[in-house]
Amino acid sequence: MIMLIGGWATLHHVEELSDTFVQKSLKMKSKSKKSMDSDNIFERWNLNRIINVSGTMTSLGASRVLPKIRKDVDQILNSFVDIDQLQNEASRVIRKVIGSESGCITSSSSAGIVASIASFITQNNLDKIEKIPLENEKSKVVLQMGHQINYGAPVDQSIKLTGAKVQLIGSAAQCETYHLRNSLDQDVICGLYVISHHTVRENELPLDLFVNICHEQNVPVIVDMASEYDLTNPIKLGADLVIYSGHKFLSGVTSGIVAGKKQYIKNVHLQNRGIGRHMKVGKEGIAGAISALECWMTRDHEFEKNKETQIIKKWKNDLFDLQGIEISEHEDWTGNPITRLKIKIDPERCFANAWEISSRLKNLNPSIVVRDDLIENQEFFLDPCNINHDEIGLVSDSIIKVLNDFTNDPERKKETWSEVKSTREKNILSWGD
Ligand SMILES: *Cc1c(COP(=O)(O)O)cnc(C)c1O
Repeated sequence: MIMLIGGWATLHHVEELSDTFVQKSLKMKSKSKKSMDSDNIFERWNLNRIINVSGTMTSLGASRVLPKIRKDVDQILNSFVDIDQLQNEASRVIRKVIGSESGCITSSSSAGIVASIASFITQNNLDKIEKIPLENEKSKVVLQMGHQINYGAPVDQSIKLTGAKVQLIGSAAQCETYHLRNSLDQDVICGLYVISHHTVRENELPLDLFVNICHEQNVPVIVDMASEYDLTNPIKLGADLVIYSGHKFLSGVTSGIVAGKKQYIKNVHLQNRGIGRHMKVGKEGIAGAISALECWMTRDHEFEKNKETQIIKKWKNDLFDLQGIEISEHEDWTGNPITRLKIKIDPERCFANAWEISSRLKNLNPSIVVRDDLIENQEFFLDPCNINHDEIGLVSDSIIKVLNDFTNDPERKKETWSEVKSTREKNILSWGD
């Protein structure tokens, strides 16, 4: 110990230093000089390598930003630009790519939802924009119960932040025309419609019907489809404002894209003088979103799809004869052109539950993060869309290794789903310890 911290502290000094300080110093000292000076931030900052087979998860950094987008962002980072002019250019590109009258960029989709809701409370009243959240304004937002999802935060919070009230309609797995029609009273400022794998799609109102009924009462409709490929249809169906994330399948930097009718977009943009300021988008976000939209037009989608098909084929080949698992191809829930590999676990034959397997994969180095939103059904998915060529084999090799490890330990006590659920809160709260 003394040798390690050599030259700059005696044993006496060490006793005076706090434990954590000593531990930290030792850790730093034991790292090679090379890693501390490294240009590689994964070495310098001691970050885990992650192989992302889960999809475009914002908690993992969403997606790989395309080289062209990184170049454009790099250029603007070293320059000054009139932000309104940059937003104007965003509007032009959004018009071209999405087919809406107008558009603007926000810091994220969630910020886009907040600004959109706020815009229907304030319109272009600058005083109201500065004062939001307002009390006693007409401010009800209609949302189907099955659309009350959590995408990292609950969607109704983006409504309530503006001071608006949430009017949930229907029930968890059923919404009918009369639920919507009866809810559209004088206090309603807009309807919010969510397209996502998180929603309960069973018996929901289809978007075209939702839009038509709202429009009968002159109620505008906001569509949150942050993670969907379909950039053009909702506008064609008459949606007034449509929101996408720039950092998901568009492979841009963190940003939100709001497309829609000109007057409404003008009012969304004005929110930057009020509530939008607290969720500000910078020049890098705006430029990154514009560039991502431009790239979307010229990307070879067929080539990308073929590449993903090859990856799935390779994984199928590698995994098909493993005992205790059943593999099948699975099309995306909301119709995005993504095929994932579904791995169904037989916990008796694998000597492990699906959540134990995914957790063991996550703890490997590099960490392998699978798509686990339905894991309590003893299944997880492999999503090929963020996988590099040199990671493909590592994913299947690691799954084989982890399954083997469990099979070789048949006496181990399995962790139940209730145990997983009951420790989740503690895990969330443990950051920073
Ligand atoms: C990801 C997501 C969001 C949040 O998007 P951000 O841009 O990360 O804020 C909102 N709604 C849906 C449906 C999403 O999938």
